[in-house]
Amino acid sequence: MVTIRYAEGKGWYDARVEARGPIPMDPASAVLHYGQEIFEGLKAYALADGGVGLFRPQANAQRFVTSAERMSMATLPEGLFLGAVKELVKADRQWIPTSTEGSLYLRPFQYASEAFLGVRPSQEYLFVVIASPVGAYFAKGVKPVTIWVSSDFTRAAPGGTGAAKCGGNYAASLAAQAQATEHGCDQSVFLDAVERKYIDELGGMNIFFVLDDGSLVTPALNGSILPGITRDSLIKLAEASGRTVTERPVSIDEWRVGSLSGRIVEAFACGTAAVLTPIGTVRSHDGEFTVGDGGTGPITAELRQSLMDIQWGRAEDPFGWTV
Ligand code: PMP
Repeated sequence: MVTIRYAEGKGWYDARVEARGPIPMDPASAVLHYGQEIFEGLKAYALADGGVGLFRPQANAQRFVTSAERMSMATLPEGLFLGAVKELVKADRQWIPTSTEGSLYLRPFQYASEAFLGVRPSQEYLFVVIASPVGAYFAKGVKPVTIWVSSDFTRAAPGGTGAAKCGGNYAASLAAQAQATEHGCDQSVFLDAVERKYIDELGGMNIFFVLDDGSLVTPALNGSILPGITRDSLIKLAEASGRTVTERPVSIDEWRVGSLSGRIVEAFACGTAAVLTPIGTVRSHDGEFTVGDGGTGPITAELRQSLMDIQWGRAEDPFGWTV
């Protein structure tokens, strides 16, 4: 693991790469009480040419800074973030799976480590990167998921922390996830906190809709949605292949009516972990509906393949995304 310490007045210091192990912690550490904690998630890929690639790690470094600012935490310079990730990948190179769709998942995180119980920003932080090999997200091939519309719980409100990748957002999403499971669904989709009408995102993925004219629509970044790097990459990839992508509010009614009328032909969730996950069925307290024929749509499959081919170095990388 990599660790780097921070103290007010001293800055970032004591960077280390060492064997992964427990971290001693004072019980008054601020993170245990007031939750100043942020994280990132990215992967290292065994490339087709024998090298190792990171997919847009600068974007993760930038989002880490934005998350830190929202949580009033010390910001880690992007160069240190990238250096830490690269050092860990070098040390753990033998752990990168070469299986199809396998990768080394990297988890950078930072928490308030000062032993202090007053409610104010911590003056000390610990930045850590750990890693784990992961296999294909869908071991038996891509399978559409059923999602639960969370009308009892919201994830993020205007002015809140939805656009930051902080641990608390995920704690808040677990009750909705439990409800999804109770209703036989794989994931929940969250609606906006004000009108409970517009689709924000899933607990750990952004969402896209494919219309019958081949164009794509995705909820606009409204401050309550995490700006996903996969989301941004898919917008750029789809546009480069001549498709129109519109970022705007999409209501749950538009999704239901559009699926029934045939205007919305595909829907998928996207994120680093599963790349693109087709959404087959949408269930709520009011009943359920199917998107398209409930299977994996052709545009979902095409975009998934194009992005994965770039990530694993099997296709040209016209955007220069791989480091
Ligand atoms: N939304 C949320 C809430 C997430 O946790 C993630 C995963 N980081 C995403 C969207 C997708 O983001 P990315 O494409 O950067 O993995």
